[in-house]
Amino acid sequence: MKGFLTKDIRRRVLVVDDERINRELLGAMLSQTFEIAFASNGKEAMAALEEGDYSLILLDLLMPVMDGFEVIERCQADEHLRRIPIIVMTSEKSAEVRSIRMGAADFITKPYDMPEVILARCERIIEMSEDKSIIRSTERDKVSGLYTRGYFFAYLQRRQPASDIHMDALVLNIDRFHMINELYGRDEGDRILRRFGQLIAALLPGIHGIACRSDSDTFFVYCERQEDYEPMIRQMQERLVKDSGLRSLHIRAGIYSCDDESTDPERWFSRAKGACDRIRGQYGALTARYDSEQYARTLYHERLIGDVASAIRNRDFVVYYQPKYNIKGDRPILASAEALIRWIHPELGFISPGDFIPLFEHNGLIRQVDDYVWHEAALQIGRWREQYGVTIPVSVNVSRVDVFDPQLEDKLIGIVKACSLRPDDLIPEITESAYSDSADRLIEVVSSLRKSGFRIAMDDFGSGYSSLNMLTEIPFDVLKIDMRFIRRMLIDDKNLRLVKLVMDIAAFLGVPVVAEGVEEKEQLDALKEMGCDIVQGYYFSPPLPADRFEELIKKEYPRPDSADSAEARHVINSEK
Ligand code: C2E
Ligand code: MG
Ligand code: MG
Repeated sequence: MKGFLTKDIRRRVLVVDDERINRELLGAMLSQTFEIAFASNGKEAMAALEEGDYSLILLDLLMPVMDGFEVIERCQADEHLRRIPIIVMTSEKSAEVRSIRMGAADFITKPYDMPEVILARCERIIEMSEDKSIIRSTERDKVSGLYTRGYFFAYLQRRQPASDIHMDALVLNIDRFHMINELYGRDEGDRILRRFGQLIAALLPGIHGIACRSDSDTFFVYCERQEDYEPMIRQMQERLVKDSGLRSLHIRAGIYSCDDESTDPERWFSRAKGACDRIRGQYGALTARYDSEQYARTLYHERLIGDVASAIRNRDFVVYYQPKYNIKGDRPILASAEALIRWIHPELGFISPGDFIPLFEHNGLIRQVDDYVWHEAALQIGRWREQYGVTIPVSVNVSRVDVFDPQLEDKLIGIVKACSLRPDDLIPEITESAYSDSADRLIEVVSSLRKSGFRIAMDDFGSGYSSLNMLTEIPFDVLKIDMRFIRRMLIDDKNLRLVKLVMDIAAFLGVPVVAEGVEEKEQLDALKEMGCDIVQGYYFSPPLPADRFEELIKKEYPRPDSADSAEARHVINSEK
């Protein structure tokens, strides 16, 4: 800051003294540095102050017409003039004290014997007052009247933690505030933010806190711990609704207990914000507390999302194959496989799809991941065909998100062509619950894929609520019964009857049934008796890496010309 006074602009100083000699003396001392104006009494001084801007007033106290005390008083009463520092010039100790109490910044004792001291004092006082006004303009947020984010955190960094008082970090947010801006305009939005700021400011003395507007409609409060914030937030919401006339206004608050004083305050508020985001759009919920498990989960998810690109590049996604056996004949025969993704993360280790598929479905990354898996599976079918002279059909999972991808069909056709396969060698499995997202779109996609020669398996059949409608509307080729029915089939008679019913429906529709999750011999026998065609499950094998799956192929198709092999080769088309 030092030095900016003398450089850019010449500051104006008003010298007020009824004695000409004093005016001239001061003028001579200061006119090299400042632009000087003169007044010979208080009245003239007030008139001059009304006319122009001054950076400093040098004020004599004893003057005719209007004395210096009255000038100080009038300046203090004026919003604008109050900011101009006043140095009083006096020879009386008692007057010095009185004028400083009234608001003068400093005093100079008459007679003026050391010009350089006087000049230095004037410069310092102006500098201090300008620093203060810079701070004033940066510490307050213009819209809400609360502190700015920068000042707020600067304050928190400097604070002296009191060991016996527990503090909390609160993040307050107006739900879907952008809608208010869009519907009613920015001015109305600002008006609501200002009112929200006032309501927060009104709370602060009671909770011994400070607050800032962090950005847009997000406010931070640092305050002494309260037992229950809910009534406070509810009251604030009611006031805001009443004052704005907008009934749809909802406030939510995230709370973090700042018990770890060593942590960076920014982190407290990012945690409180995490809690606040958790209840976004849940209108019943006004407050949420940060919970460390949820936070760890969020971090973990962010990590996974961030690592997808490198996982694809480094081939950390590995496709496993789970065999499906045809159980129609005397002995079960390896008929096909399902491709199931695994993530072998270089640092986090083995991650199962249940941990990342729903996450990637949520943000659309699943499309890249699925594309990768379909390619890998198609390449693998080609490799096995070359090595063993047999085409093992492999089913691949098609996420409900892929169903909305306009490129889906082109992608699948491209993959099949690139690997010289037939479309019915790669079987898309679409989960039944995709039907509830958009029945029309699903019907359209399935019909179109079938026209291109693909066979479609309906996955997890029975897990959704739309099963019966779906059966009549979607032209699928294979029905996979949800494994929950299989698991409970022998414990609960209702489930057994349901499985039978599904078999009957499939027979009526003329499509084969795949039973998933078969773990026990009894389940296998029961399914066989009911006329189930194909079985997949731990009873036969868990999903295996490609090289281990290969051992199963070798066992099943030892020589292209053996009798067993011929039977198997016939059966392999059972899903087609
Ligand atoms: P899904 O398609 O229904 O796959 C069957 C799941 O059942 C697999 O779980 C498989 O390992 C498991 N399973 C198979 N036999 C048994 C058994 O006898 N007992 C039990 N308890 N489980 C068995 P996984 O591999 O963990 O996959 C879970 C789900 O993740 C899959 O369910 C599928 O919806 C999804 N998924 C897996 N890979 C992909 C993929 O590449 N893309 C997409 N979009 N989803 C995938
Ligand atoms: Mg599946
Ligand atoms: Mg399934």
